[in-house]
Amino acid sequence: MSYEPNYSVVVPMYNEEEVILRTYRRLKGVMDGTGEPYEFVFVNDGSRDRSAEIVKELCQTDPNVRLIDFSRNFGHQVAISAGMDYAQGKAVIVIDADLQDPPEVIPDMIRKWKEGYDVIYGKRLKRKGETVFKKTTALMFYRLLRSLTSVDIPVDTGDFRLIDRKVCDALSGLKEKNRFIRGMVSWVGFNQTSVEYVREERAAGETKYPLKKMIRFALDAITSFSYKPLKLATYIGFVLSLSSFLYLLIVLYQKLFTNSTEPGWASIIAINLFFNGIVLLMLGVIGEYIGRIYDESKNRPLYIVKETKGFGTKKGSTED
Ligand code: UDP
Ligand code: MG
Repeated sequence: MSYEPNYSVVVPMYNEEEVILRTYRRLKGVMDGTGEPYEFVFVNDGSRDRSAEIVKELCQTDPNVRLIDFSRNFGHQVAISAGMDYAQGKAVIVIDADLQDPPEVIPDMIRKWKEGYDVIYGKRLKRKGETVFKKTTALMFYRLLRSLTSVDIPVDTGDFRLIDRKVCDALSGLKEKNRFIRGMVSWVGFNQTSVEYVREERAAGETKYPLKKMIRFALDAITSFSYKPLKLATYIGFVLSLSSFLYLLIVLYQKLFTNSTEPGWASIIAINLFFNGIVLLMLGVIGEYIGRIYDESKNRPLYIVKETKGFGTKKGSTED
């Protein structure tokens, strides 16, 4: 196939049957408006609903639609990575399936791309229809991440962004298993800028990021870009041993020069529990990193594709 689209729109989806058709129509309206060739790369991340079937039907009617169907759920960040691997456009746009990122922002991104920027990320001015809990944890997360890492990761940006082909190739070359794409995009560098937008409510369905996934996502982000949590052990250890040394001096002084003896063992137990707690916490931190080293060393592929559709014969091996 010699056909080379200018734009690839990558849409990761996990159980999005309620919204995916609407998303497709709105995206199509916007992309037709550019008057340039484009393709949609839908990545089905092991949905247990009809998401994949719906996209397969779209493949029949629209030659610009492609589907990558994973063998199981591999996670949002991996789905985006697969979309980028398969995308053929000169610019790649990543957008969520739930219409929280308005497709109408894409032409602004394209304009900046034509001005010569390589990465144009969407910066959320506001987040509508999300719980106070989600907003506060997100706020804290982006600030914490910023203070912990030396890579300049912009605050309040999601994965809604346009990247140039050369950035896409650079990202595909980063083989790490625990992927935090926002951080990786900052890490590869190039000319970056932002467009601002208001994050809408989810058009239908519910969030696919429950607390457990959010925590995992945050840990991946921090551990892939910072060693500081490991250093924490050194700092805490230093402060604790210094203070216990001072305390020892006080005890010795009381023993030798005063009549007051140290009362009870409750204080000893309390201190013991406290120290054990810290030791376990730091072991946990070290475990997080070792687990990730283990993941990397297994050298498994990032994802497994069950089938692809709409790619012609170029990339898909199990093509229709
Ligand atoms: N998603 C995915 N795999 C997952 C979880 C989510 O591909 O394991 C997709 C989901 O379909 C959506 C995007 O990632 O297109 C963002 O998810 P969601 O909207 O649920 O997250 P939120 O906006 O609530 O943070
Ligand atoms: Mg969403």
